[in-house]
Parts: sequence; structure tokens; C-alpha cells
Amino acid sequence: MGRIRVLSDVVANKIAAGEVVERPASVVKELLENSLDARARRVRLEIEAGGRRLIRIADDGHGMLRDDALLAFERHATSKLADVKELFSIATLGFRGEALPSIASVSRLTLETRSDDEPTGTVVEFAGGKLLRCDETALATGTTITVRDLFYNVPARRKFLRSEQTELAHIASLVTHYSLAYPEKSFELRHNGNELLAVTPVAKIGERVFQVFGSQTISDLVEIPERIHSIGGTPEERADAFRLRGFVSRPQVQKFNRNSIYLFVNGRLIRDRVLLHALSAAYRNLIPPDAYPFALLFLDCPAEEVDVNVHPSKIEVRFQHSSFVHDFVRDAVREMLVEARPVSTLPLAAPGPQGAAQLPYSEFSQRMMAAPFPNEAPAESAKPPVPEGNLPQFTLRGTTVFTPPKLDFSGGSIPVDAPATPPASPRRGAVPDTHGALPPELYAEAGASLDALRDLRPLGQLHASFILAAGPDGLWIIDQHVAHERVLFEKVLRQMAAGEVEKQQLLMPIVLELTAGQVIEFERLEADLRAIGFEIEPFGPRAIAISATPSDLSAAEVERVLFEILEIADKELRQTSVEEIRANMAASIACRAAIKINMPLDLTKMQWLLAELAATEFPMSCPHGRPIALRYGTREILKGFHRI
Ligand code: ADP
Ligand code: MG
Repeated sequence: MGRIRVLSDVVANKIAAGEVVERPASVVKELLENSLDARARRVRLEIEAGGRRLIRIADDGHGMLRDDALLAFERHATSKLADVKELFSIATLGFRGEALPSIASVSRLTLETRSDDEPTGTVVEFAGGKLLRCDETALATGTTITVRDLFYNVPARRKFLRSEQTELAHIASLVTHYSLAYPEKSFELRHNGNELLAVTPVAKIGERVFQVFGSQTISDLVEIPERIHSIGGTPEERADAFRLRGFVSRPQVQKFNRNSIYLFVNGRLIRDRVLLHALSAAYRNLIPPDAYPFALLFLDCPAEEVDVNVHPSKIEVRFQHSSFVHDFVRDAVREMLVEARPVSTLPLAAPGPQGAAQLPYSEFSQRMMAAPFPNEAPAESAKPPVPEGNLPQFTLRGTTVFTPPKLDFSGGSIPVDAPATPPASPRRGAVPDTHGALPPELYAEAGASLDALRDLRPLGQLHASFILAAGPDGLWIIDQHVAHERVLFEKVLRQMAAGEVEKQQLLMPIVLELTAGQVIEFERLEADLRAIGFEIEPFGPRAIAISATPSDLSAAEVERVLFEILEIADKELRQTSVEEIRANMAASIACRAAIKINMPLDLTKMQWLLAELAATEFPMSCPHGRPIALRYGTREILKGFHRI
């Protein structure tokens, strides 16, 4: 007899479960996607012990017919694909027909379901993949699936589960993600009886963001209204168009990891390096290279443009035209930031995020963290150069008053079982939808723009470092050094792009000795250095003579800037594009040439600087990502004086 045998279904399902069901959150993902595919309007999730003891999901979707209820547990049984052609144009979240049999093979599972087309419902029970019963019963339309004792028959898997807290955090993050993608549906998540998330249907994603994260977050975001673009480049609406919409944070919001980046392609939560890279590219020179924005992006495209059948749990995708997608997303986000020119304002006293949004982990982002995009510099070498010598010598008392709003929904460490609603918040309580409707004035606040810079009247300086200015809507504080840095940075880039850099000839050439490594870097960067305004000749084997420099740079700074450029190039930019190398050089020059802090300025000079800043493309942050201007809004001032 031959040695090869066909595996029994029970064994095959358990093997598939190894891929599909990695942890409790993967069960939740599959079941949640099934409910959404069944067009549920309301999804309720109950979790116990981080999902190990119990995962129950109840939906009001279209339910299953009696015959289908059993068939659904056959391997590769699906109602969503009829033939192989459809595999390339998948419109549902599920399609592999693997989830239910896999989950049933590693747990004790009960399915209760009733279709609208039948008068009664069906209960089906499995344990370790074996059918225990299948009965007719009275039920409302919809489906409830209860998964108990996950991995009870797979001790090896159970051993690898993380703490209850970690597993719950993954689940909470997942449900939060999906609640953001489907604002027209209601979602509820409870853990050991405590409510972690409860959102009722709303018309706009903005309102859902508000429900989930609270008003502080929404006022930190810039909305991207739908942008449409086709590969052919034709602007009019076409069936094959790509559409992007969502929210991204102002540059002042800087996260230490990617946990606050939520990406959806055709309604499916995914992780994708192309999109992540496009997002970092949009924020280049607006936030530090090792920081991440908050982003909630929805990309919709024809199903044939994206292959979702890349990974068993369907969280990776492959775009057919990935560089088109990359540039479309990068440009849409960047253009929106240019247009909005969002200002940092003071935080309003407002409700914070819901419990689920404060849990610290996200399965997807954590996995993404593990693998940087090939072009990305490793995070530890990407510290922005800070002009240490120029740091203020004073301490600011009361700085907290002017601190821009901080978001803490991803890094928060509330105990997982704490009630979702902090008792301090007055608007929480009996109403399940904890934040109510979005107050319209918040949208107005979020729209505050740095265009107001044009109309500012400087009043004086604080500590000879910060310009205080009166504006049409409040008091402004502008960091003079970074403001000038932004002005010079854009000027140098503009001149370079036009091939018309302003140079100054030095009376005496400056001679610098280089190390062997610097000699190599110098040779590599010679053309770029010339493009930015340096005239440099080799001066013997290990030295260079500089005879002209970019016009804004004083002779005293030349040596530092040049070594800085050679060093940055060495550390971070080996694999990056010419554009990025030049932007980094421009940033170095701008930083060294800019007005320092601790430098008294007269009013005319302040006026000049504000006007120059107003004329820049990105007045929000300096090229290293630090904020430039803060606004203390009239509303907050009036509130502070109890006048409203
Ligand atoms: P897939 O989602 O890939 O089709 P699953 O194993 O997840 O495979 O589900 C198998 C089938 O069971 C689905 O195709 C669907 O017809 C049915 N089903 C699963 N969950 C639900 C639900 N909540 N409501 C209605 N039908 C469901
Ligand atoms: Mg499914």
C-alpha cells in the first residue's frame, strides 16, 4: 500500500485553523466580517477572559437557511464565490470559506441563525470540529455565534496566547477599526460585562471618529474630502477610478508608532507598505522622520485592481498599479495639508476616547512595525538634528497652558477592565452612544487655518524667542527660529528646483580636512552640494576648499553645515532619492542660517518674518517636524475669563 493518504476533514480543518485562527482577535475578525457580509446593521460582541473563555457575536444580518447552516461548516463552503473568475473581483470581506470550519475545529462553537425566508431558526453545535447537534428552534432573524474555550483541544496554541489584556487589546483595536469603516452601523463591545465601545449609526465618518475618539481628536484632524483619480489621468468620474477619503492629523500630532494609522481598501481593514510609505512621504519634512501621524484612510478602487487573496487572514493586499496608488495617496494627503494649513490650538475640555480606543495594541500595526518599508531609514538612526547650542536657557513657567493638544488614545494604559467611561465626563451615562451628536462648532474649530498669519499684528517677544501676535481670532505665539527655518527651507528648495540658487563668494576659501569616510561621501554628494549653492574644490587628497556658499549661510556656520550634511548622508540617506538628500541639505542650511532663539527682534523684523511665513506652503512645522505657531483662540480666552 502507498504511503500517501488524504487527510480527514477534521485534520485538514485543524491545519487550516493554524493559519486562519492565530488568536482570539482572528476569530473576532472572521466573525465580524461575516456579519458585515450578511449586511448586518447592528453587531454586538461579548468577550470573556480576553476571548479565551468566550467570544459571542450577535448580528441582525440576513441569517442562514437551515441547509446552509450545516453546509457553512464544510471546508471551502461559501455563499460568496461561485466560480474562479469572481476570485479576481471580490466584493465581500470573506470568500475563502475556511473560517467557520477552522474555528469550529479548535473550540466549542454554537451557531444560532434564522433567515428571513424561513419561519424558524436553526441551532448547530460543534466541539473540536465534531457535530454534536443540529436542531430547529424559534429565533429572530440574524445570526449569533458563540465560541467557547478557544484552543481547548490545541494545547500548543493555548500556551502561546498572551495575557488576557493583550488579547483583549487586539480585539478592541479590531472592533474600533471596523466601527470606523462602517459609520452607518452600530457596534457594541463588552468585556466581562464592561462596555468598551458603543456606537450608534451616524451619517458621516467624522461623526463616528468623534463618537470613538472624542472631540479632542477630531479637532486635531484634517478631513480629506473624496478625491478621485484614474490611471488614465482623466479627471471625470470613471468606473475604474480610485477614490480616497478620510482623516489625517495635523503635523503637530506625532505618534511614536503606527498604531494610529487605519487603512481600509474597499472596506477591508488591511496593512500595506505601499500605503504606509505614501503616508510617510506626504508628511516628509512636516513631522520628524521617526514620528507617525494619525490617519484614517479609505481607498476604494475597482476590485480587479487589488488582489486580496494574498494572505489567509486577508489583511495583506497587492495592488496592480502600486506606484500609481502610492503617488495618488501621497499627493492627496499632502495637498490637503497645504490647503488646510491647520493651526495648533489649545485643547477644549471635552470628552475623551472610548475605552476600546484607548487600549494600547493593534495587531495590524504591530506586525507592520516589525518590517520597515525597504526605503525607510531604520527608526533609531532617524533622529532629527536639533540645534543643541541654540536651546533656550530659560524655563518657561506655565508652558502647559500653551501646549498643543496631545492625543493619547493609542498609548493610553487604562486597565482593561475599567469602565469605558471615565466618571469625570459629564456627557456620559445612560445614553449608550457616549458622545452624542457632533457639536457643529467643532468642525469650525478644526478648520482654523494658518492663512490667518497674514493678518497678524506682532506685539512683542517672549524671552526674545517667541513672537506674540494679535490675530483676528486670538493670541498667537510663533517660534521665531523654526518659523524662519521653514521660510529658508522652502526658499532654498524653490531656488534649487529652478536651478537658480543664490550664492555668495567667500573672500578667503575655507579649507576643511575630511576623514576617509567623509571624502567618499563628499564625492558622492558633490553634484548635490553644487546644486544647493556650494562651490567646492578638492584640496589635496583629504581636504576641500570652499570658495562660495548658499547666500543665507554665514561663514561661521559653513563648517558645521557641511559636516552635518556629510554625516546625515552617511547615516540615513544611503538609499534615499536625490530629492530627499537635497531636502535634507536644505533643512541643514535653513536651520543654521535661521534667526536663533534668544535674539531680540524689532517689530518690523517680526512683521517681515510673519509675512514670509504666511507665504510658505507648509507654515505648520519646521523641516524637522517641530510646530511653528500656536493659537490661543478667542473662544478659549473668553472661556478662561468666564465670559462665555
Ligand atoms: P466565507 O466568509 O469565506 O464565505 P466562512 O467560513 O466565514 O466563509 O462562512 C461560510 C458561509 O457561512 C458564508 O459564506 C455565509 O454564507 C455563511 N455565514 C457565515 N456567517 C454568517 C452570518 N453572520 N450571517 C449570515 N451568513 C453567514
Ligand atoms: Mg468569512
